Amino acid sequence: MIPVIDGHNDILLRMLNAPANRAAIWLAGEGKGDLDLPRMQAAGFAGGFFAIYMPSPEAHDSAANQLAMQNPPFALPLPYLINQPDAVPVAMAAIGHLLWMERASGGRFRLCHTAADMRACLAEGVIGGIMHMEGAEAIDEGLDALHVFHAMGLRSLGPAWSRPTIFGHGVPFGFPMSPDTGPGLTDAGKRLVKTCNQLKIMIDLSHLNEAGFNDVAKLSDAPLVATHSNAHTCCASTRNLTDRQLAIIRDSDGMVGLNFAVAFLREDGAKIPQTGWGPVLRHMDHLINALGEDRVGFGSDYDGAVMPEVIDGVSGLPHLLDALRDHGYDESLLNKLAHRNWLALMDRTFGSA
Ligand code: ZN
Repeated sequence: MIPVIDGHNDILLRMLNAPANRAAIWLAGEGKGDLDLPRMQAAGFAGGFFAIYMPSPEAHDSAANQLAMQNPPFALPLPYLINQPDAVPVAMAAIGHLLWMERASGGRFRLCHTAADMRACLAEGVIGGIMHMEGAEAIDEGLDALHVFHAMGLRSLGPAWSRPTIFGHGVPFGFPMSPDTGPGLTDAGKRLVKTCNQLKIMIDLSHLNEAGFNDVAKLSDAPLVATHSNAHTCCASTRNLTDRQLAIIRDSDGMVGLNFAVAFLREDGAKIPQTGWGPVLRHMDHLINALGEDRVGFGSDYDGAVMPEVIDGVSGLPHLLDALRDHGYDESLLNKLAHRNWLALMDRTFGSA
């Protein structure tokens, strides 16, 4: 079985929503959701980025929004900015869950701070976790909290999850629509990029709009990374990357993780699970054409999105690799997509420190 390193999951959000249930969610498996420790081990899930996400008080997944996303075209308004005093306790709770996951796993899951840590996990058959923050709401304008979160293990940060932050603007969810939806980074956002570079915290472009993407591309000295986004030319969602953006990522020796969410895969943009391998293969072919074999991986969005029924939860990873193999990808390419490219990107981003 080929081990898989994954660019994005939201299992911490499931725990935030049901903290009393976390042992069932993580250790036993609830019989629902995309991820749990036993299924991850059985499917070859070897490591990944675990997202700390701040839910908005107003429901983004309201019935009306859900219905709109099943029936494109749509353009949804974004929730309001969340203030840092409201976000910090949520971030603390999510980090607490992540640390508990390591402790409760009995050596089966370990947090990683470097590429070497992740390589050691792979060698030992331990699942490696990287702490990612999806939206910088819990960080103050003076960036003091960024240093604190880095000391806690934070190694990857999205300046915005779609809703605005004091650092910049994300993309609203729309189809069909360009990702060029508004202003980019604020002055604080530009300082955030430079400080992330100094701390070797990876900056995730996945939820930024095009102006914010351009600002990071101009300022950052690190490889450019979109952990869970697809090709805009195959699915015209605001969350996907145009060919121009893909060329900029390629030239920075960066990376894109393929998002399994049907809404970012399907040509019609519809958020419905009745989706086969066709869209997955189209995006993969396009990303590899645009970025090269060494700059594409997976960024599942497990536990954060509606998956194609052919992939479903983490147990679908071996089926995904089979589908790519049947499509003509050789073992060398499959190993790159599954884990080698993420490991090499970690080398380029985190350095050897
Ligand atoms: Zn996301």
